[in-house]
Amino acid sequence: LTPLSQAAPAKALSSQRTPNAMPPLNSADKFAREVSVESLSTNIRPLGQLDESFIIATDDEGLLLIDQHVAHERILFDKYRALESARTSESQQLLIPETFDLTPAQAAVFDTVAAELESYGFELMRLSGRTVAIKATPADLPAGEARNMLAEILETVDAEKKGTARETLRDDIAASLACHAAIKVNMPLTPEKMRWLIDRLLKTSSPTTCPHGRPVILRLATRDILKGFHRI
Ligand SMILES: [Zn+2]
Repeated sequence: LTPLSQAAPAKALSSQRTPNAMPPLNSADKFAREVSVESLSTNIRPLGQLDESFIIATDDEGLLLIDQHVAHERILFDKYRALESARTSESQQLLIPETFDLTPAQAAVFDTVAAELESYGFELMRLSGRTVAIKATPADLPAGEARNMLAEILETVDAEKKGTARETLRDDIAASLACHAAIKVNMPLTPEKMRWLIDRLLKTSSPTTCPHGRPVILRLATRDILKGFHRI
């Protein structure tokens, strides 16, 4: 992830540079840029993957890199939010309920969070003391991720204390769910899966940013490629 995630801070540096200090094409920050929603076309063609983490694609303006994890995160976030507001969560029952023990801090906020989690498809049961059983998990969330996701949400709520607005809590839960259910980086994707991911991403509320505000797509403009090869 590092090489691309470093692209953002580099921007600040370039604006401080004097115009003639360095040809723009030698600076990495000019190479691949965050894509604006306005410049997104539906004509995106996936070609393959870089490091089994980024989908390489083309559109009418150049070459695209799509972060497969955050792209899927955006798709799932929108889906979970829509299901939640329609009050039609989808659950998958666990064959064997997963039990785990809450820390005292987690136990203190559990009841606040439990109702919200259940509106997303979790089925939780408080057993004796601080032991909790997960009986069902939201659709798409791998059973093995449920415990981590619960711990993350309980920690978030604890950190934000009880003043957390219900709407914020719902967004936090949807974002955490989406992150844990999304395909990971370092995962090979079939051409069909890449196509599916792109098509679904384009239909989301914000295809260019993930629920945490990170960019989903970078573009290397054909114009810059041509300049790089001294063709223009
Ligand atoms: Zn994530």
